[in-house]
Amino acid sequence: MPRRLTGFTPSGHLHLGNYLGAMRPIIDGQATGDTVVFISDLHALTLDHDPREVRDRTLEFATLLLAAGLDPDACLFMVQSHVPEHAELHYLLECVTGYGEAQRMIQFKEKSRRQEQVRMSLLTYPILMAADILLYDTAEVPVGDDQRQHVELARDLAVRFNGRYGETFTVPRTVNPPVAARVMDLSAPKEKMSKSTSAAAGALRLLDEPAHLRRKIMRAVTDAGTTVTYDPDQSPGVANLLDILAGCTGAQPGALAAGFDRYGDLKHAVADAVVETLAPIQRRYVELAADPDHVRDVLRTGARKARAIAADKVRRTEAAIGLLPA
Ligand code: ATP
Ligand code: MG
Repeated sequence: MPRRLTGFTPSGHLHLGNYLGAMRPIIDGQATGDTVVFISDLHALTLDHDPREVRDRTLEFATLLLAAGLDPDACLFMVQSHVPEHAELHYLLECVTGYGEAQRMIQFKEKSRRQEQVRMSLLTYPILMAADILLYDTAEVPVGDDQRQHVELARDLAVRFNGRYGETFTVPRTVNPPVAARVMDLSAPKEKMSKSTSAAAGALRLLDEPAHLRRKIMRAVTDAGTTVTYDPDQSPGVANLLDILAGCTGAQPGALAAGFDRYGDLKHAVADAVVETLAPIQRRYVELAADPDHVRDVLRTGARKARAIAADKVRRTEAAIGLLPA
């Protein structure tokens, strides 16, 4: 099995899109695959941040992943900053990255336009992401369109480093997450549901109370028509509700559409399905959150396992690039 890696940046609140699009596929595949999952706390420092929030979310995200069924014995599961080799490899990879190459990243251009003070780390963040990927000989990175260019950079850096200094890194490739797993914002169904840009009403947060989830779904934007059809271009709001129902039940969104005459009935069915999907995760979260020391122990063990792999990769990279071994 090719090794796959996914990171969750601890800012904002994890939502149903993160669950259906990333968490659940990882958990479903963990028994048979070779999986690396990490909380990318260093990436949360690239934009204006609140220290306490980053710390609290790091523990919350780790707890939620475990509550959703992530098995730390079946995969490599850790916090990025607990493995200092991420930062070490980041620097070494900076030495094979062009300044113009980093500046060309579309996400940097977009995010820096919105900031008054742009942090240097926002410019170099794709290089840190390349380090995350290359440190573990990752073969496949499941990402959406917004991250594709960054995985391309990781590929370019791996090929360049191997060519100049000798075979050191596995060259990774992007794989598409399942299309139907892309959950859209409930109030702006042409935009994806997002931790950082969705307003509270647009995102179904994994830790929202059931009544709150229902209220948001009942208020979701639908379309001018009245019949329930699956047409993501013409009726993105209704199509999103059908996709969510499909994601929660395993049925096909087109087939589900035929079962509803009115938007209201569809919304009730979606609310039931979402509440039912999240209830066991929320229950388990409450249990795990009562014992944060246990979760932190799991993360410490994960970091130890990750370091055993990562330290070896950094040593080999240092030797290849010309550093004298200590
Ligand atoms: P941000 O707005 O901070 O980028 P995000 O909601 O996009 O937050 P990420 O931390 O960037 O979340 O992504 C974590 C994982 O969740 C990634 O694998 C990403 O592809 C997946 N993901 C994010 N949003 C969605 C969505 N709306 N539908 C399906 N999958 C998603
Ligand atoms: Mg994102």
